[in-house]
Amino acid sequence: MENLKQSTHLFFNTAIGIQKPESIRNKNQSCPFCAREELAEIIDIEDSIILVKNKYPVLSDAFQTVLIETDQCDGDMSVYSKPHLIKLLKFAIRHWTKMDESEDYKSVILFKNHGPLSGGSIAHPHMQIVGLEKMDYMEKVQESDFEGLLIHETKDIEFNLSTKPRVGFYEFNIRMKEESGIEEFAFSLQTAVHYILKSFPFPCSSYNLFFYRLNSEIICKAVPRFITTPYFIGYSIPQVPSNLEWMREEIKLRYYQI
Ligand SMILES: [Zn+2]
Repeated sequence: MENLKQSTHLFFNTAIGIQKPESIRNKNQSCPFCAREELAEIIDIEDSIILVKNKYPVLSDAFQTVLIETDQCDGDMSVYSKPHLIKLLKFAIRHWTKMDESEDYKSVILFKNHGPLSGGSIAHPHMQIVGLEKMDYMEKVQESDFEGLLIHETKDIEFNLSTKPRVGFYEFNIRMKEESGIEEFAFSLQTAVHYILKSFPFPCSSYNLFFYRLNSEIICKAVPRFITTPYFIGYSIPQVPSNLEWMREEIKLRYYQI
């Protein structure tokens, strides 16, 4: 299989993948992230937040870690207290930066899956930090992915709704110019997640968060997940909806009273 390994594709080991617990789909299976005393290979702990090596490293040429966000199995980013949310994001960004600076990887990704359509297999709130030895994730990322209609802005952050979404429809971008803006960054991120899960114009159970470094900025893209359109699957053509202005105004009114 060696000749199949290219820098364009991540190599997924199906023999390891098949061992993974599927606790989103199988509610009878006990949650591996609640059994905190059984967690092996802990990298760091801060109160209820734990970073561990992934027990099922399905990717070749990668170092996979899991960041358990809380000891509340049914918790969610939309309901975390502000102190916990800020502590969590500082912890995640600190470890992401540390791996990035280690120079063991070509690039390091930080992301989160939530809900059945997000690509995640375990419901307990967690993120992942993955060091990619042969891939630079920024090769397929463009500055225009983060442009959008302004929802909220401060000196250090910008919160917008994508006008050129990567995959299609609604993508929220939270851009942090200076790390001193971490609190505003965290609140805007929570607003995006809350809107997706609780106030979206149609029911939405799933979302992803993707973090990027672009120039000197840290950017989080929050993406509600639905069935992906055939235009994108077959042709990589993203679609942009006609009601972006309406959604921007709705969020401003609902969360910022303007
Ligand atoms: Zn759990």
